[in-house]
Amino acid sequence: MTTETTYPIEGSCQCGNIRLRLLRAPKLIACCHCRECQKLSTSAFSITAVVDACDVEIEGELKHWERKAESGNTIAAKFCPHCGNRIYHYHPDKPDVIRLKPTYLEDTRFIQPTAHIWVSEKQDWFTLPEDVPCYPKQPGG
Ligand SMILES: [Zn+2]
Ligand SMILES: [Zn+2]
Repeated sequence: MTTETTYPIEGSCQCGNIRLRLLRAPKLIACCHCRECQKLSTSAFSITAVVDACDVEIEGELKHWERKAESGNTIAAKFCPHCGNRIYHYHPDKPDVIRLKPTYLEDTRFIQPTAHIWVSEKQDWFTLPEDVPCYPKQPGG
């Protein structure tokens, strides 16, 4: 039996320039298999924890980058200027909810995916779990 995750959870980017503190459990945790996330993660999918901006504290200066999603929404990204680690994404029109990259936190046991999205673009060799909801694209649009 594993002990329960306690908050806050501390974390940092690879170089330590950015310090993170997650104060509360995320609302949901999605694995995104889209091609953009494959580039971002250099892997088969990226992991995103949806959290209220007030539930995470971030120290250190981040750099900004943004792109248009297929939906037409702007996806803004914050990353460490030293080591390049992507820290979080957000929609500039809804800055109170952020899409945190949770793998920088020291205790990763809370990372239990609640959905797999964009599985239409997933790597062929990755087998989706049967007990987690899977969506061909972004759920709800
Ligand atoms: Zn860094
Ligand atoms: Zn994606």
